[in-house]
Amino acid sequence: MHDFAYHAPTTLPEALELLDRYGDDARVIAGGTVLVTLMKQRLSQPGHLVSLANVGVLQGVRLQGDGLHIGATVTQRDVETAPQVQSAWPLLAETYRRVATVRIRNLATVGGGLAHGDPNQDPPPTLLVLGASVTLASSQAVRTLPVSELWTGYFETAVQPGEVVTELIVPLPPVGSGSAFLKFLPRTEDDYATVSVAALVQLDVSGACQDIRIALGSAGPTAVKATRAEAVLRGKQPTDALISQAADQAREEVGPIADVRGSAAYKRDIAAVFVRRALQQAIAGAR
Ligand SMILES: Cc1cc2nc3c(=O)[nH]c(=O)nc-3n(C[C@H](O)[C@H](O)[C@H](O)COP(=O)(O)OP(=O)(O)OC[C@H]3O[C@@H](n4cnc5c(N)ncnc54)[C@H](O)[C@@H]3O)c2cc1C
Repeated sequence: MHDFAYHAPTTLPEALELLDRYGDDARVIAGGTVLVTLMKQRLSQPGHLVSLANVGVLQGVRLQGDGLHIGATVTQRDVETAPQVQSAWPLLAETYRRVATVRIRNLATVGGGLAHGDPNQDPPPTLLVLGASVTLASSQAVRTLPVSELWTGYFETAVQPGEVVTELIVPLPPVGSGSAFLKFLPRTEDDYATVSVAALVQLDVSGACQDIRIALGSAGPTAVKATRAEAVLRGKQPTDALISQAADQAREEVGPIADVRGSAAYKRDIAAVFVRRALQQAIAGAR
């Protein structure tokens, strides 16, 4: 690996000042699960690494009026195992439980995953479905944006040079809603998904779909919100026929690429199958 300087600031202003000072030659490092691999492969060769590990303000999970605030350096394993997440955000706990292996999740941070912008990651569809937002800080400003605006393309994000993801904010799911996260893994249990689906359904007193949200991962250059599939069921009784119609609609909304996990056509078919299953599971949970 090439030579680099390692900085371990303890405050956010100090970290942001280092990013400003070294500009393009600096990279933020959190868990390092992606960045160290890229550096070993010489795909990234920063002269300065700015570690967020000791920046106290980026740690911890706090419940506030607008939802759960998860610090950027909280590990994915800590989200998965936090009792408050498991009880009030079961979809979030289940999704982080499905990421890679315990070994990876013990290192990989929430913020690192958000900033990486890989459309094959598991959390993005769930975060879209839960209406999460993310806070970014630079030496100039702090801004919050919905995760739907964070991922802008294949491994591209709205994070600007000199900016750091500081926290993820996840609102409470609608009262009485049911949800599901399903990940199709034909190869190994710790692989990235061939296709993943997050679904959330809230039924009204008549049993019709009052609130319905569907999103898919590994199904396009970013996670895809299947809005036309949602529209098939919104306000309607979720009969088997309508669930199948929504799943067929989702097949048309995704744009997966062919790779080692399958052809684009195969992934479209898998998307339909997994949307149907995720909806069935979410509806059963809501009932
Ligand atoms: C073997 C393996 C298997 C995996 N399998 C899965 C899987 O099945 N599902 C899945 O969802 N993911 C999977 N992942 C990806 C994993 O989720 C990411 O590696 C992890 O989320 C990255 O977090 P990190 O803290 O290690 O980031 P790092 O490697 O430290 O950083 C990643 C990138 O984000 C930037 N960055 C980090 N933190 C911040 C911040 N706070 N603000 C701004 N930029 C920041 C870095 O500069 C770098 O560009 C896998 C990874 C590996 C190595």
